[in-house]
Amino acid sequence: MSQTTRRRPGSDPGDPGSTDHPAAGGAMQPGFEAFPPADRWDDWTELDAKAWPERVERRYTIVPTTCFNCESACGLLAYVDKETGEIRKFEGNPAHPGSRGRNCAKGPATRNQVDDPERILHPMRRTGPRGAGGWERCTWDDALDDLATRIRAALVRDEPNKVMYHVGRPGEDGFTERVLAAWGVDGHNSHTNICSAGGRVGYALWMGYDRPSPDYANARVILLISAHLESGHYFNPHAQRIIEGKRRGARLIVIDPRLSNTASQADHWLPAWPGSEPALLLAIARELIVGDRFDREFVRRWVNWEEYLGAERPDLPLTFESFVDELKRLYDGYTLEYAEAETGIPAEQIRVVADEVARAGGALAAHNWRASSAGVIGGWLTARCLFFLNVLTGSVGTPGGTSPNAWDKWVPRPPYMPPHPKQWNELTWPREYPLAFFEMSFLLPHFLLEGRGALDVYFSRVYNPVWTNPDGMSWVEALTREDLIGRHAALTPVWSETAWYADYVLPVGLGGERHDLHSYETHAGSWIGFRQPVTRVAAERDGRPAADTRETNPGEVWEENEFWIELSWRIDPDGSLGIRRWFEAPDRPGEKMTVDDYYGWIFEHSVPGLPAAAAREGVTPLGYMRKYGAFEVERDVYARHDDPVDTGRPGVVVDDATGLVFGPKPDAAPLNVVPVPLMAPGPGGTVRVGVDVDGGARRGFPTPSGRLEFYSATLRDWGWPELALPTYVVSQVARERMTGPNDFALIPTFRLPVLVHTRTGNAKWLNEIAHANPVWIHPVDAARIGVRNGDLVRVETDSGYLVNRVWVTEGIRPGVVACSHHMGRWRLDPEAGTDRWSSGHVDLRQTEPGRWTMRRLTGARPFASSDPDSSRIWWRDVGVHQNLIFPPHPDPISGAHAWHQKVAVRPAGPDDREGDISVDTTISRRVYREWLALTRPAPGPGGLRRPEWLLRPLRPTPDAYRVTDPAVAPAGAIDEPTSSSAPRA
Ligand code: SF4
Repeated sequence: MSQTTRRRPGSDPGDPGSTDHPAAGGAMQPGFEAFPPADRWDDWTELDAKAWPERVERRYTIVPTTCFNCESACGLLAYVDKETGEIRKFEGNPAHPGSRGRNCAKGPATRNQVDDPERILHPMRRTGPRGAGGWERCTWDDALDDLATRIRAALVRDEPNKVMYHVGRPGEDGFTERVLAAWGVDGHNSHTNICSAGGRVGYALWMGYDRPSPDYANARVILLISAHLESGHYFNPHAQRIIEGKRRGARLIVIDPRLSNTASQADHWLPAWPGSEPALLLAIARELIVGDRFDREFVRRWVNWEEYLGAERPDLPLTFESFVDELKRLYDGYTLEYAEAETGIPAEQIRVVADEVARAGGALAAHNWRASSAGVIGGWLTARCLFFLNVLTGSVGTPGGTSPNAWDKWVPRPPYMPPHPKQWNELTWPREYPLAFFEMSFLLPHFLLEGRGALDVYFSRVYNPVWTNPDGMSWVEALTREDLIGRHAALTPVWSETAWYADYVLPVGLGGERHDLHSYETHAGSWIGFRQPVTRVAAERDGRPAADTRETNPGEVWEENEFWIELSWRIDPDGSLGIRRWFEAPDRPGEKMTVDDYYGWIFEHSVPGLPAAAAREGVTPLGYMRKYGAFEVERDVYARHDDPVDTGRPGVVVDDATGLVFGPKPDAAPLNVVPVPLMAPGPGGTVRVGVDVDGGARRGFPTPSGRLEFYSATLRDWGWPELALPTYVVSQVARERMTGPNDFALIPTFRLPVLVHTRTGNAKWLNEIAHANPVWIHPVDAARIGVRNGDLVRVETDSGYLVNRVWVTEGIRPGVVACSHHMGRWRLDPEAGTDRWSSGHVDLRQTEPGRWTMRRLTGARPFASSDPDSSRIWWRDVGVHQNLIFPPHPDPISGAHAWHQKVAVRPAGPDDREGDISVDTTISRRVYREWLALTRPAPGPGGLRRPEWLLRPLRPTPDAYRVTDPAVAPAGAIDEPTSSSAPRA
C-alpha cells in the first residue's frame, strides 16, 4: 500500500478507543475541555443555564446522534433530562471524526425543531380535493395498508416503476435504496440535478468518482468556487479544516461573483462573471502549461494522453513530449487577456493567482459546489476545468491535495443485498439524458403532463419540490392530477408547500428521532456516523427498552427504517413476492428484522476495526455506536490510485492490449468502493481491479482507461466530441447576452449560513436571525436603473416575475444581481400549512390555464401556541419565493438545472407589492422543450441507454441498460423560441 500514514497535527479526531480521544476521557484537544467525558455521559450533572442566577442542577443522560439539517452529518449530543425525559439541548459530539464537537447554528437549533408546536405529530389523510386543505387524522395502519395494497398491485401487474420514492436530502447511506431494490423498483428519484449534478459530471469524467474530497487542513493553496467556508459542502467539517489550513499558511482563493463571508476571508477574491469560470481556470492552466510549471511525472503516469494522441493526433509521435507540445497548442488561446475579456477579472490578477496555484506543488485543495456548475449550461465544465488544475499540479490524492470522495467515506454492506431492478425507469432516466447525474427529477411534472407515464404511488420524502425546485407551479399542476399520481405520501417531519398536495402526510423523525447510518468525505480519512432516536436510547439506558420508536418519540412520529420494514412486510405478507425475506432478521429467518438486527449486523461484520474497538470497551459493536455515535474507520488516506495490485493472486490477469487488470470481485469491499463501477465483466467473470502503469499494476481510477481522463472517449462516443477535452462554452447568462439596459445575470443559488432550504423553516432561533432575501445589486447598477437601497423592484424571467426589495451593496459585481434561495416560504391557509415561524399567508390564483399569481396577505406574525415565543415573533419579513419564476433549464449533458437566469430588473410599479409573483407555466413548458431540443439522446454505443461505467443509483441489471424498444417519449413539438435566454445548440 502506498497510503501515507503521517499524522497531521490538529486534525486527529481520534479513535474513541484510544487514550487521547476526548470522548474517552483522555487528553483533551485545545478547546474541547467543555465536553463532558464520555465515561460520564450516562449520568451527567450540570447547572441549568436558564435558571441563572439560581444554581439549579440538572441530571442528564447524554446520547449521541447526528444532525439532520444538512448533509454534513455532524455529530450531536442530546442532553436528555433524567427527571422529565425531555431533550433540553443539543451540543456537538467530540467523538465524531468529521465535526469534532463543533457545529453550526443549525445543529443546536434541532432543539427548536423537536419542540416546534407546529410540527406534525400524527399521520394525516386528505379529505376533499387534493391541495384544497382538508385533512383528518388517520392511523399508521390506514396509511400502511393503503400504500402496501397499491404497491403490491403494481408489482403483481409487473409495473414496478409506477412506484417512486423522491428524496430531498437523503441523510443516510443505502437503507432506502436497498428497500427499493428489494421491491424490484427502479423508482429512486433525488434532488441531485437541482444541486450537484454539474459538479459530479465534471469530476466523474476525469476520475470515475463524482465528488472531490479536498484535504484543506494540509493544503498550500485552497481554491474554492463558491462559499465553502460558510455554507458549502460539507460546510462545518470543511470550514474547520479550511481555517486550519489558513492558520498553517495556506493561501485562499475564492471565485464567486458575490462577496460571500468566505470571499471576505480570501487572499484573492475573483468575482468572475457567472458561467465564465472555465475560461478563468483554463487561463491558469495555460500559465502552468506554457511555463512548464506542471507536474510532468504525474501527468505522464496518470493521464490518458496516449489515448488522446492515438484517437485525435495519430499523425504525432506517441510520446509524452509530443503530448506536452499538443497541450500547449490546445490551450494556447486561453490567454490571460482572453480570460479577462470573458470573466471581467484583470489579466494581471489572474496571473498572480496562477503563480499561487503553480506554487501549490502537490497541495492544491479545490472544491466546486453548486455555483456555476449548478448555474449555467455546460456548468459541469467548471468542475472539469477545476480538476484540471489538480491534475496539472499533481494534487490528486496527496496530502493537501484533492482526493476522490469514495476514498474518504465508508458505506458498509448490509446483511444481504437484493438483486438489481430489472426494468429501466424512463420517467427518471429518459433517453435524452444518457449522461445525466442523476435522475431528471425536476422534469418529472413535465414528463407526467406530456404523457410519458403515470405513478400509482409517489413518496416525497423530506422533500419539497413545489418550493425547492424551479417552476413550482408545474409541480402543483402535476401533483393535483390524480390520474397522473394515484397516491402521494409525504414523509416529512413538518408541513411544507408540497405536503399540502399529498394524500397522506406521514410524520417522520427529526435528527434525534430516527436511525440512519452515513459517511461523508469531510477530510482525508473515513468514518461512519450513527443517527439514533435519543429518547429511545435514553429509555433503554433506563431499563425501559422500546420495541418501536413511536413509543418514545413525540406523538406518533416514526422513524423511517421501521416504517419501510413494516411496509415491505405488508406488501408481501406471505413472502410469495420474494420481498419479505430481505426484511427478515439475519439470524432468525422468518422473523421481522429489527433496527438492532440491521445495524448490529453491519457494525459486527462490515466496519473494519469496530468490533475490536468495541471489545476493548467490553461492549458489542452496536453498543459502541450507541455510546459514541461515530467511529473512525481510517485516517490519513492518500494516493489510493497508486496502490499496487498483486498480479500473482489467483484469477488476476493483465490485458496486454489495454493495460487493464482484471480479477475476482472482492466481496468485502464497502459499497462506495466497489472495485470499479464497470459493469462489463472481464475475462472469466472478473472485474476491473487495476491498470498497468510503467510495468506495474496499480489500482488506478474507475474510468474506461483506468487513468485520469483528460480526453473523454465517452463524450466523444455519446455525441459530444467537441467537449471531450476540458473546455469552455458560453452560457445562457453570458455578458454578451445582456443587451438591454435592465438586463442582469441573476445568481439565485447562494445559501445563508444559518438556513437550509425547507428544513430550517421550523427553527425559531434561525428564523429570528435570518428572514429576508433582498436582491443584491451594485451601486452603479442601482443608480443606472433608478433604485435606492430598500426600494421594490420587479425581477423578470422568461416565465414570470417577482417583486422584492433591493440591497445596494458593493459586495456583488456590477451587471450581476443575487438573491438567496432560502426564503419566501408560503402557506395557503392563515393558520395551517408551512410553519408560521417562516412563512407568509398568500393568495394563490390560477387566472387561466398556466397563469398563476401569488400575493402575500400576511408576513410572519405572532401566534398563540404552547411555545410562548410564538407570541413574540417580531419580524414580519419572510422573503420572496424566487424558484417559482424559474423555467426549467436542463443541461443537455449533466441534466443539471442551470439555475442562473437572465433577468430584467426594473423599479416596481404602483400596484406591485413585496412578495408578488406571477408565472406562466405554458412558457415554462416551451423553455423546457427548447432545452430538451439540445440533447443528443441514447442509444449510444452498443445500444445502451447510459455508459455502463458511469455511476448510477440503484443500478438496474445489464439487460435493462439496453434499448430494445422504440422511444416512448413524445417528440415534443417545439414552438417558436420565446425565451430571451434560450441557449444555442
Ligand atoms: S454543518 Fe450545521 S446543519 Fe450541517 S450537519 Fe453540521 S451542524 Fe448540522
